[in-house]
Amino acid sequence: MAYDFDLYVIGAGSGGVRSARFAAGFGAKVAVAESRYLGGTCVNVGCVPKKLLVYGAHFAEDFEQSAGFGWSLGEADFDWATLIANKDREINRLNGIYRNLLVNSGVTLHEGHARLIDPHQVEVNGQRYSAKHILIATGGWPQIPDIPGREHAISSNEAFFLKELPKRILVVGGGYIAVEFAGIFHGLGADTKLLYRGELFLRGFDGAVRKHLQEELTKRGLDLQFNADIERIEKQADGSLKVTLKDGRELATDCVFYATGRRPMLDNLGLENTGVKLDKRGFIEVDEQYQSAEPSILAIGDVIGRVQLTPVALAEGMAVARRLFKPEQYRPVDYNMIPTAVFSLPNIGTVGLTEEQAREAGHKVQIFESRFRPMKLTLTECQERTLMKLVVDAGTDKVLGCHMVGPDAGEIVQGLAIALKAGATKRDFDETIGVHPTAAEEFVTMRTPVAG
Ligand code: FAD
Ligand code: NDP
Repeated sequence: MAYDFDLYVIGAGSGGVRSARFAAGFGAKVAVAESRYLGGTCVNVGCVPKKLLVYGAHFAEDFEQSAGFGWSLGEADFDWATLIANKDREINRLNGIYRNLLVNSGVTLHEGHARLIDPHQVEVNGQRYSAKHILIATGGWPQIPDIPGREHAISSNEAFFLKELPKRILVVGGGYIAVEFAGIFHGLGADTKLLYRGELFLRGFDGAVRKHLQEELTKRGLDLQFNADIERIEKQADGSLKVTLKDGRELATDCVFYATGRRPMLDNLGLENTGVKLDKRGFIEVDEQYQSAEPSILAIGDVIGRVQLTPVALAEGMAVARRLFKPEQYRPVDYNMIPTAVFSLPNIGTVGLTEEQAREAGHKVQIFESRFRPMKLTLTECQERTLMKLVVDAGTDKVLGCHMVGPDAGEIVQGLAIALKAGATKRDFDETIGVHPTAAEEFVTMRTPVAG
């Protein structure tokens, strides 16, 4: 049967664009549908604008610390509207780049909502298109629990477009987004509280990292409230919000920001017209080659709910393009040793196993840890400390995990991830010459285990 396209991609986000571009480069006839914004979550309401806001928030510390180096500045004044307008301009520029990337690689772009009609047909803007393969790369969407007054709360989608910086804000959640945005709002001058329902935020990260970040954020004056959960939100006559917690406490604020995870974006996608199945958590179920229960339909990225990170969606998109149109170059995505950063202030960078995971997996471990005051701060009043930690297998000497809390942790951990992926041992770390004077050199100079 002749199809209109070899591959029809739904969603021009991280994974969809990568897959579409490479498939077209391999000679396939490809179309992509996008209903909202080119570049998807990461470019429009995720990684990129978030990092710009983190940079913006970091200036508060830079101004303060500059005094130790002899600078005297007038009183700093911050204008949210300028930051948001400049951010919007940059995102517009990136949208244009994504459009060019697609068009220049020969991909047909359909701007509109795509709905599956059957296993080989998609409808966009009233037109039907057939394809041999359909790739669902529709990403995710913020999930806010169904509490009374939920309509008064915002998610990350709205946070990027607030007209004004709230004077007081309550950030709810203890994952990546909550921790990053609490740092942004606090740094920019909002009176910020972070509410997390459990004992300690960032579940799944190394215990020492979680504790260290808790201490550092507390030192900076961020109000961390653990074992706290909202029961209801009520709007007051003056426009402020009254928040009642499950333990009966009442808090007054101007904005409640929920960052409590993301659901797969399947709205009006027409999955019921196909044999695609969902897993227990509601994400699209795929096999190791991203094929769904419907053989002509594949899915990648946040919508399959494996690892919700842009570089992972990119790798999955690439794997699909190769598998379908360049099988001789196909390599499965390796989900081991995925490095990741939380752009909190200070940053977390991590790769490999946490101490807890290593012990649970049966490794006899040696732990190396270093805590120190970064050199840049020695001339300042700032008491911030950096944490670096190595988890080593005592038997094989292999480094199982590297963890850091401190400036540029994400940048540092990217390089370490290559070493871990290549199977580096602690001896390899020890025999590597440091770069002096840097913080990163501490990773190759830790000699005495703190725990076995
Ligand atoms: P997306 O990028 O979400 O793209 C899906 C696209 O599909 C969207 O453009 C959507 O409009 C479109 N779409 C949906 N349904 C349809 C339809 N029916 N028809 C047509 N189009 C449709 N990851 C990192 O690695 N580093 C970070 O620093 C980071 N920061 C983040 C910060 C925030 C606030 C958030 C929310 C996420 C962050 N992430 C980060 C995660 C990252 O953004 C996602 O993992 C990544 O964007 C997933 O890519 P994707 O291709 O699966 O989906
Ligand atoms: P996460 O899954 O990281 O965290 C969700 C948080 O919300 C957890 O602390 C969870 O608590 C809590 N939570 C879940 N449900 C409820 C509820 N009903 N009531 C109260 N608290 C609740 O999700 P995020 O929204 O922060 O981010 C989504 C994903 O996006 C991340 O997992 C990550 O993959 C990606 N991302 C990556 C970034 C990066 O690379 N720097 C930055 C931002 C996002 P508990 O732990 O108790 O379950």
